[in-house]
Amino acid sequence: MNDTVPSEERGIVMKCYDCTQIGRDEDAVAVCRHCGSGVCAQHLRVGDEDVRRIAGMGPSYEPRKARHMTYVQCYEAESSVSTAPLASVG
Ligand SMILES: [Zn+2]
Ligand SMILES: [Zn+2]
Repeated sequence: MNDTVPSEERGIVMKCYDCTQIGRDEDAVAVCRHCGSGVCAQHLRVGDEDVRRIAGMGPSYEPRKARHMTYVQCYEAESSVSTAPLASVG
């Protein structure tokens, strides 16, 4: 019988991209919503994202936050919002 099924093919497991860069083999627990790479718990940053709500009549809705899971590097990149130099004020 040829039931030699490689254990690696039991399922596709995404690995943390950053860990693979440093020679580690860490399973990803999430996917960065920014770049789409796998992120392990160590490199994961979870934040809140404001959900744009429609302004209109009616009771004020409580601001809802969406979960924002990103790779730590992407998180820092998004946090440091670069203020684009617009036209000279004044
Ligand atoms: Zn990692
Ligand atoms: Zn990313």
